[in-house]
Amino acid sequence: METKAAPPKQRSWAEPWKVKVVEPLKTTTREHRRKAMAEAGYNTFLLRSEDVYIDLLTDSGTGAMSDRQWAGMMLGDEAYAGSRNYYRLQENVRNYYGYQYMVPTHQGRGAEHLLSKIMIKPGDSVPGNMYFTTTRLHQELAGGHFVDCITPAAHDPADQSPFKGDFDLAALERLIRDVGPDRVPYVCVGATVNMAGGQPISMTNMRAVHEIAQRHGIRIFLDATRAVENAWFIQQREPGYADRSVASLLKEFCSYSDGCTMSGKKDALVNIGGWLAMNDAELYQRAANLVVVFEGLHTYGGMAGRDMEAMAQGIEESVADDHIRARIGQVQYLGQKLIDWGIPIVRPIGGHAVYLDAKAFYPHLAQDEFPAQRLAAELYLDAGVRSMERGIVSAGRDEATGKHRYPKLELVRLTIPRRVYTQAHMDVAAESVAAVYQQRHDARGLVMTFEPKYLRFFQARFEPKG
Ligand SMILES: *Cc1c(COP(=O)(O)O)cnc(C)c1O
Repeated sequence: METKAAPPKQRSWAEPWKVKVVEPLKTTTREHRRKAMAEAGYNTFLLRSEDVYIDLLTDSGTGAMSDRQWAGMMLGDEAYAGSRNYYRLQENVRNYYGYQYMVPTHQGRGAEHLLSKIMIKPGDSVPGNMYFTTTRLHQELAGGHFVDCITPAAHDPADQSPFKGDFDLAALERLIRDVGPDRVPYVCVGATVNMAGGQPISMTNMRAVHEIAQRHGIRIFLDATRAVENAWFIQQREPGYADRSVASLLKEFCSYSDGCTMSGKKDALVNIGGWLAMNDAELYQRAANLVVVFEGLHTYGGMAGRDMEAMAQGIEESVADDHIRARIGQVQYLGQKLIDWGIPIVRPIGGHAVYLDAKAFYPHLAQDEFPAQRLAAELYLDAGVRSMERGIVSAGRDEATGKHRYPKLELVRLTIPRRVYTQAHMDVAAESVAAVYQQRHDARGLVMTFEPKYLRFFQARFEPKG
């Protein structure tokens, strides 16, 4: 007798959009990819996009805009000063993030540059919940140094705590006591924490950081790049917030900070753009003055009017509960598949990416043989899936000693662009990871043959060890 599987009890859900325009993808042969990888110096950042099949390098500026956003592009008011689109953007930053003042920048690091220059004096310490590459570099270029105050759980890929982006509050207090509040220009809060695997920080922890900062008269600046995704995790995981909308959680979360830097290329669903926001009028005056030097007039910063319009619209779309559920749901789908197959990834699964634990893939490689760099190369060679190293190469060299920094986490990031790929693409990517995992014992290390001074992971070159 024929047996049929019963339909599942739990009903499926799908993305709250349908596809209107498609972009063809190219598949390549292994031989083609081998040549391309060698030419790229075993660095996925140096591959040509057209040689990539499924591009999970980053979720930065790689999302698909909606029909409303594209329509908005035609509403660009390209006046040099006082563009209509600037005022709509300002209004939406006020409405959804809650900050009074906003300076547009070309992307997140433009905002980090201005903030670091305005706030940091040489010798200052800037505490944060794990570093981010561009954020820390701008702090250092301004003469400050970053001090990591993240909870120790963040450094353990197997730790299943729901809020691994939380601050270690005692470490934060200790730092402020040790250097004195005058030498702490602001606390830099990341939500979610990219380098820890897209891990969220809880509302409770954020409120506690706010309380500590207030007590010492120190400001808080949020890296709001993925704060909407963070708000979704609060709704899903933190007791007492299940009934609140993502939009209201975002606004409450931001209310515990004095301003933010933002890469609109992530949560805000645009291909380029960002902003610096704050509540303090005097700080705004300084930022509005400095942006003229480095980006453009304070009513467009680094953006065209049409780009500001697309970002203003993107903010509204980004906070919709069904959007964010589908966005993070797709990341969880990929991650869960890998977990089910016994592949070592950072747990819990983060908001924007699945992080492979390269140390667990290649325990036979020393960290200065660049295991994660190697793993990213192998993934590309297998099926043309592009990922990114987030380990010793990304961590760079210690300012004082000039030696490699050895981060506890040696990861490869599979980052999911927003509204771009289908579930079938996730299946193909997962199967490729599984194939590479099966061949893990054969992998050899790499040697670095070229190393740029700043943010070396973008442009460094490697060769396989003999
Ligand atoms: C991408 C990113 C930035 C920098 O933004 P860009 O738009 O790439 O300049 C800052 N912080 C975090 C957490 C990011 O992910």
